[in-house]
Amino acid sequence: MCLKQKIVTEQERILQQTSKIQNILKKGKQEEKLLQYEIVRQQGYYNMLDKRARILTGLTEKDYNYILKNYTELILKFPKVKEKAKSRLQYLKSAQISKIIAIKGCSNCIEIVSKKLDVTENDLCENCKKFITDQQIM
Ligand SMILES: [Zn+2]
Repeated sequence: MCLKQKIVTEQERILQQTSKIQNILKKGKQEEKLLQYEIVRQQGYYNMLDKRARILTGLTEKDYNYILKNYTELILKFPKVKEKAKSRLQYLKSAQISKIIAIKGCSNCIEIVSKKLDVTENDLCENCKKFITDQQIM
């Protein structure tokens, strides 16, 4: 193999690797976008055809419409997204519960939320549970 050929193959190799990396990044971005969509879908505040749902996802109109149209295929392509969205929502919910209880809760429940990371309304007394339902978290 002459030097010129060697250089060409080397360049091809680099190009191939770069496009591989780009594909992985693209896939990662797609999955991340689908996750943003799925979180809002699971929250269920709005029908996904509602414009407000798109705003909540933070996605561009183009990305949003793409996911809306291809949701079934995308979920099959990224099966972990549903579970990820669920745990992300649980995390958000318990963070919100902790925040509300820290302000309004009784001293007993304040102690509970300060110790437990994945707190749910079931950890709270009836009185503090009401604060959470009043705030209509999910
Ligand atoms: Zn309480």
